[in-house]
Parts: sequence; C-alpha cells; structure tokens
Amino acid sequence: MSVIVAKTAGFCWGVRRAVDSVVTEIKKGEGPFRVYGPLVHNPQVIEALKDRGVGMSSEPWDESGGTLFLRTHGVTVEERERLNELPLKLKDLTCPRVGRALGIAGKMSRKGYDVIIFGDPGHHEVKAILSSAGSSGMVVASVADAKRLPDLKNPFLLSQTTQNCEEFSEILDILKKRWPGIESSNTICDSTARRQTELRELLGRVDAVVVVGGSNSANTRRLASIAGETGLPVFRIERHDELDAGLLKPYRRVLLSAGASTPGWSIRKVRERLLEIQGESTGAGWIRNVFRNLIFSGVHIPFIALVIALAQGETLGGTGWGAAGLAAGLLLWSFTNFTAVLECRRVTMTSQKRQEFIRAHERVMLLLAGFSFLGSVTLSFHLGTAWLLWTAVATLFCFLYALPLLKKSQFFDLLRAIPGSREIMFTLAWSFLVCILPAVSLAGLDFSLKLLIWPVSLAFLFFSRSLFLDLVDLQGDALLGMDTLPLHLGAIRCRKILLSSASAVVLVQVSAVLMGKFPPCALGFVAAPVLLIWAYIHLENESFPSELSVRVISDGSLLIAGLIPYLLCSL
Ligand code: SF4
Repeated sequence: MSVIVAKTAGFCWGVRRAVDSVVTEIKKGEGPFRVYGPLVHNPQVIEALKDRGVGMSSEPWDESGGTLFLRTHGVTVEERERLNELPLKLKDLTCPRVGRALGIAGKMSRKGYDVIIFGDPGHHEVKAILSSAGSSGMVVASVADAKRLPDLKNPFLLSQTTQNCEEFSEILDILKKRWPGIESSNTICDSTARRQTELRELLGRVDAVVVVGGSNSANTRRLASIAGETGLPVFRIERHDELDAGLLKPYRRVLLSAGASTPGWSIRKVRERLLEIQGESTGAGWIRNVFRNLIFSGVHIPFIALVIALAQGETLGGTGWGAAGLAAGLLLWSFTNFTAVLECRRVTMTSQKRQEFIRAHERVMLLLAGFSFLGSVTLSFHLGTAWLLWTAVATLFCFLYALPLLKKSQFFDLLRAIPGSREIMFTLAWSFLVCILPAVSLAGLDFSLKLLIWPVSLAFLFFSRSLFLDLVDLQGDALLGMDTLPLHLGAIRCRKILLSSASAVVLVQVSAVLMGKFPPCALGFVAAPVLLIWAYIHLENESFPSELSVRVISDGSLLIAGLIPYLLCSL
C-alpha cells in the first residue's frame, strides 16, 4: 500500500492564527483562560488547549477576570453585545474570512437585500452570519432547499466559508433561473476551495480515501462527502487508532486528507499507522516496529558518541578515545531519556509517535537511563579523576536544566524559557562530552586551536540537526508548550540559520584539511551536513513526512559524521 498525503491537509491559515494567538496570550499570563465554545472543531486541539490551561465556557455570562477567547467561527450580534459587557479581557479570534462573510451579510441586509446563506443551519458560523443579516436572512442547506425558497424581491446569495464550491455554483445557477438579476458573493474561503480542488485532482489516482478531522468539523465532513461522490471507499476518522487494518489492507493506494482544524501531529500519526498497516500486509511490519522502538529508545546514542570519538582519535592522535566516547555516549543517552520522560509527563496529550512510545514505556526508558548512567559512572572511574569531576559537573548542569520539569524553580524556569535553550543545551553537552573532555583530560593532548575543530564542527552539526527536527514539527511544539527556536524566530529565518549552520560545518572541516591541520580522510565528516541539507530541501516539499524517517535522517547524520571519517582514516 502506498500513501499519498494531500499537501493542503491540516491547519488552515485561520486556525493557525487562532492557535498562535492563544499561545501568545498564555505567555502574557492574563489568566484564567477560556474559550467561548470550542475554539475550533477538533477534539485533539481542544484537549491540547486544556492541557495548557485553556478551558471551554459555553455560559460565560457570570464570569469575570482573565481572558475569554472568541472561537474562529464567530458569534452572533446578540452574543457579542452581551460579551462586550463582561468584566474580562475579550480576545476575538473570529477568522477574518468568516468576519468578511459576516460583514457582507450585514451590509447587504442594510441595503435592503434578502440575504440567502448557503450553509448548515446548526453551525455556529451560519448562526453568526444569519444574525448579521437580521430579519432579512434565511438559510439554504442544499439544492433542494434552494428550489423551495419563497418569492423574494431582492435576493442576494453568499455562503458559509467551508461549503462545497460546486454545490454553491449549482445553487447560484438554480437561483439565476428564477431571479436572473440575483447578486451573489462566493464567501467560501480560498483555503477550503484549494483543499477541495486538490482532493478532486487526487481522487483519480487512489483506491481509497482517509479523511482525518473532528466529527463536528463541517469542512472535514465536506471533504469526505466529495470523496464519497466518486464511489471510492472513504474512511472518516478523528484519530489514528480508529483505522481498521482489516478494512484497509486490500487497497494499494490510499489518499490521506484532513480538515482545516486537524493538527499536523494527528495527520502524521495517521500516516504512521497507515505505513504500519502497509508493513503488516507485506509481513515486514514487525521489523519496522522493532527498528522504530530501538530508535525511539535511543540505543544508538552511545554508538554515535563512540564513533565520533574514535574518528577524532584518528585525526588528532592520542589514546583512550574509545573508552571516553563510550562513557560520554552512555551519559548522553541517560540525559536524553531522562529529559524526554519528564517532557512527556508535562502534557497528557502527545504530539508524536516517539512521545507516545516514551509515555507508554516510561519505566523502561527510566531504567535504560539509570543503567546507562551507571555504565557511564563505572567507566568514568577508570578514566581518571579529571574525567569523573567534569562529567559530574555536566550531570549537575543537565539535572538543573531539567529541574523545572520536576519542580517549579524561578531561576531554572527562566533558563528553560530562553528561546532555543533545549537545542543549545544539548549542543553544548555533546561537544563538551564527546570532543573537548576526551581530548584534554584523556588523550594527553596539549590545548591548541586544532583541538577546537571537532567540537566546533560537532556543535554546528548538532545545532543544525536540532533545528531540522524542530522545523518539521512547528504546530505540535506551539500547542504543546515546547519552546523551540523556529517558534520564536519563524520558519523562514530558521531555515536560513539551518542552512548557514550546516554550511559552517563544511567550511570548518574543509579549511582544517586545506590548512594541513587534519588529514584528507577527515573530510568524511562533511557527508553529515550535506545529508541534512539534502534531506531538509527534499522534506520541505513533502507533507507530513514520516516521523521515523525524520529521526533516522537526523540521528543518521550524527552517525556518519563519525563513522565515515573513522573508516576512511583507519583504512
Ligand atoms: S477554513 Fe477558511 S474560514 Fe475557516 S478558519 Fe480556516 S481560513 Fe478561516
């Protein structure tokens, strides 16, 4: 089975804007926070907001203080008047495209038109448009409804923003036959129109369709019904665990699309599940699962640190690199698992398969962290006092950095709140433990500029890898409270930083070889940043790439940074 993911799947502009505004307001801290009704029609987004302390209030009339958000679908004129009276901060997150439909309905009604709204009568947005149109407004939900309209003097047609474009044109044609001079405004938003057009274009290439979105989401329902019109089997789901492997296995090509309020992490999980089903149908599923679990539990981390240390040994000379690399790798594995478990505990919602895996195997992850820490300490006793002391300092620093995840601490909360501190902290830990410490405390090398080439290259590479991972999952991080650089600086700026940082690795290594500091075999390191740049450019055009492939590429870049120069130099 192959899976085609629609490029338009996931958050539309209006939903992203609303979610980002809520996150910004949370940071300002003027709580308590609640939304008047559901912010968007997606239970996972509502759950994630709840995790961040944003509740839902359907009857806020006696409330005071804090911030009340208005949902993307808009509110009626009467509701707005009452809400404006409340003694609290009102943050209107009505999508501007919905706002445009409300404005047009009000204007045309004031001009004396009979405003016909094509939409679902029970939907909040339609109720809001209807109230803007006042007594001259009426709703038609279908072509049949349009044919039953009473005689009107001055009809005007507009639409709910998420309606079916073709049905709108059909209704307009019917009304034109009755009222040739009828005026209209197609207020279906461009995001909805693009989503439907892409779906129609892709339907001819697949045997089945999976549509992901809230059961109460109008635009998700519409996507499913458009796909269903072609006679293809359509599986409409809210979550990845609703997929029925038995029903899906017979299909060779499956199209995955999603509504405008479906978060990227949910789509990615559905894609992962479809790939699992594909594996089960070919019998290779268990191999993929074992491989994925090994990657998610980080068993490769000590091996990566070991080969990087060995490669350094080949280019710098000296002794003890293997033991040092292994001790550093075990310690880094321990830090990684420990902080990952704590980060996953912070939220009851999980955005990624890896987080889900960590939550489901928390004890195993902590046991692995404990054993790898003990392994590192045992090795450290053989590596001398200086090594032991410095690794104790690094451990203390990592523990303090993770402290706010365990217990509130003003100072360390501030440290974690620094944009990109997670990336910077792991970058420093890797460079120090895998490159600097073995060189100065074990290999018996005198300090020189040459000793800085590896740590600087690894720091740039590790930083590029962290940015690469964060850039792939912007939505999940924002909603789930992760503080990453792309969220603070924006995707475009971070893309430039990623490309510059990866290029810096190439520059440092090539200069070191040209200046005769390193043998030519050290150039093998350059394969790592090249892989990252190539993968990023390739994945930029792919919607919701598989989480496993992204992890394999990012950690694979660290692995080849050590393995290729080590193999080339030891030949
Ligand atoms: S689907 Fe369109 S109208 Fe609705 S929230 Fe998104 S951008 Fe706004």
